[in-house]
Amino acid sequence: EYKRRKEMFRAHDLAAKYYHHILMNTDVGLPALRYLEERGITRTTMEAFSLGYAPQGWDVLLKFLLKRGFQEDLLLEAGLLSESANQKGRCFDKFRHRVMFPIQDGQGQVIGFGGRVMDKDAKPKYLNSPETPLFHKGRHLFNLHRARPDMRRVGQVIVLEGYMDVITAHQHGIGHVVAALGTALTVDQVRLLQRNVQEIVMMFDGDEAGQKAALRSLDVVKESGSEVKARVATIPDGMDPDEFLGTYGKEAFTRVVLDNASSTTTFRMLALRKDFNLATQQGREDYIKSVISQVLSTVQSPVELETHLKELSEEFGYPREALLEEVALTRKKAP
Ligand code: ATP
Ligand code: MN
Ligand code: MN
Ligand code: MN
Repeated sequence: EYKRRKEMFRAHDLAAKYYHHILMNTDVGLPALRYLEERGITRTTMEAFSLGYAPQGWDVLLKFLLKRGFQEDLLLEAGLLSESANQKGRCFDKFRHRVMFPIQDGQGQVIGFGGRVMDKDAKPKYLNSPETPLFHKGRHLFNLHRARPDMRRVGQVIVLEGYMDVITAHQHGIGHVVAALGTALTVDQVRLLQRNVQEIVMMFDGDEAGQKAALRSLDVVKESGSEVKARVATIPDGMDPDEFLGTYGKEAFTRVVLDNASSTTTFRMLALRKDFNLATQQGREDYIKSVISQVLSTVQSPVELETHLKELSEEFGYPREALLEEVALTRKKAP
């Protein structure tokens, strides 16, 4: 079993090098190279992330690895091949005509890939390695091994949504960035992060899916029982970090997005606002009750609680004592 895993690591390493070579040095790779260049990715960055291109064709990687002595069934189990649906035992390259993003484990060993289409309408936009003996989606973070020294130095990690967000941030000199490989963070991923940093800043896409993922991730941080601090940075105009950096640059990114990142409590309160019509008296009352029962009653720190009660009191005109009373009542009901 150990030997088989080692073979899978070696197959991934060779596949990454092969895809990378095709991207950087061959005519077949030119469209992918142009695609990445058009997205503003430099060759230095392509090298740093070992980006690649998986050519069109059903057995390009298959032939390459068979020649090097690998068995088809091992490559299939490793997720580098797919099996034909109607012809059992017939295998072909899983990734075809895609820009390839190698996914590495904490030691920097390649354990899987994400592959992106270049044509606007092709689906799915990203294809990721399946769950394999090496690759478990919720247990890894894209770019962790590269980001770790910067994470430790800064004491903070920024969790982004996608490969391109991480790569663009890195290219702008922001090194302490990782991407969760699904939507929200998992408990395992929080554990990986909290060993290295005191603070996690979630910076998911500005669309609704991204904001939902941020909320869910905050719950997971709490669930994990970790002492790590969490904040949420919101990107304006429905952009994602890659688009924002490309449009406004690094300084705006740091100023607008990072420096203004909300505390967990503030972000939850803001998220709740959307569910109520604050133009009506009833809506405001219901909002305040929800904020208290769902958010503020769980705030442990009296100082933090006080800050938010004061804010609420100022915005909605209820005396702070009444709000505090409401908190106390909620806590008594559901300790
Ligand atoms: P791009 O900028 O290249 O369009 P993105 O990262 O902005 O990509 P999103 O749609 O925001 O794309 O998705 C964020 C991340 O979620 C992707 O980087 C990828 O890891 C993952 N993802 C997106 N679509 C899929 C999919 N169809 N299947 C699996 N994973 C996906
Ligand atoms: Mn998104
Ligand atoms: Mn995105
Ligand atoms: Mn994007």
